[in-house]
Amino acid sequence: MINEKMYELGAEPSAIRELFAYGMQRKAAIGDDKVFDFSIGNPSVPAPEKVRQVMLDMLDTDPVALHGYSPASGIPSVRETVARHIRDTYGVPAQANQVYMTAGAAAAIAISLAAVTHPGDEVIVISPFFPEYSTWIGASGCTRVEVPAQVPSFQLDVPAIEAAITQKTSVIIINSPNNPVGAVYTRENLEELAAMLARKEEELGRPLFLLSDEPYRAITYGVEVPYVPAIYPRTIVCYSYSKALSLPGERIGYVYVSDLMDNAAEVSTAVAGAGRALGYICAPVLLQHVAAACVDEPSDVEAYATNRALLTEGLSALGYEYVEPDGAFYLWVRALEPDAQAFSDRAKQFELLLVPSDSFGVGGWVRVSYCVARETIENAMPAFKALAESYAE
Ligand code: PLP
Repeated sequence: MINEKMYELGAEPSAIRELFAYGMQRKAAIGDDKVFDFSIGNPSVPAPEKVRQVMLDMLDTDPVALHGYSPASGIPSVRETVARHIRDTYGVPAQANQVYMTAGAAAAIAISLAAVTHPGDEVIVISPFFPEYSTWIGASGCTRVEVPAQVPSFQLDVPAIEAAITQKTSVIIINSPNNPVGAVYTRENLEELAAMLARKEEELGRPLFLLSDEPYRAITYGVEVPYVPAIYPRTIVCYSYSKALSLPGERIGYVYVSDLMDNAAEVSTAVAGAGRALGYICAPVLLQHVAAACVDEPSDVEAYATNRALLTEGLSALGYEYVEPDGAFYLWVRALEPDAQAFSDRAKQFELLLVPSDSFGVGGWVRVSYCVARETIENAMPAFKALAESYAE
């Protein structure tokens, strides 16, 4: 007999993937330029030239070493380079043995949750939230507890998080810059969270881990993205190069267990154990070399900044309400009717593919991914206009 839970996961439609697949079909039927696909978060800028160069250079090195296994936690020199980058950039005393290289943030999160939770624990997520959190929380045998962000700032609602913490809570997942809303948590907001968590740890007599999911750290529009381990010691950072270096298909990222927490070495060992248990032998080796060589490489955010300006100015002129994004490449737009799915369905009639907010655990909004060609945004404006007008009739 197959495992029912796994069957359900395999069969369960992802609204984002479905919309993306629909877009491909539609493009084949009526032409690429007639469909405005804002569904998926695939970076639209190419990886930096340095990535290509490092890959080519590495291909000229000893193939036996290059294509062989690395130690499970990663190549020692790569872990040291990542730790050095964390020390130099954020001023926290990161050591190489607290860095564990992974196949992207997805693996980093699944591994970290498995490392610090027990079946039956509760894991807090901030809604709207990245849908795959539910999968990884469920796979760890834990229960997801949703706490809405503040509206319309979409900052953390610290009193609400406090109210949701119980004897069973072991992890709080935060994601800044945020998918889907583009919010970046302010230093003040994170400090308020840290003070509350420290107080609750005392009160409950058990550790509360903060899992900071950071694939969009490098993609911001002029705001500070405070480094969470410098604010709350019991932080586990799940980082990814998918968006920063435009390499989502290559799978490279890391877990950094803050050196500042007690039992940091023990937690790191549990991370290595969870990686082993989940079948991650080691992160892709060629990509570990790329990550180390490009660790200080700036992300190319210019195209996203241009798209962000075009989209927000265009939608504002048409009367749409949205959350001004400080980071990532998503715009959170208020649906023109309470039912986000119905709004997304209606948008399809105008060849606009917008992800309904139900996928992220809340109603009434859609997510517009603006990691697309600039012309897609320019050419989509008449469709957004017609969509709005269809509600005025
Ligand atoms: N977390 C968030 C919030 C994301 O948006 C994504 C990908 O879109 C991930 C994690 C997974 O990223 P990765 O490609 O690094 O596994």
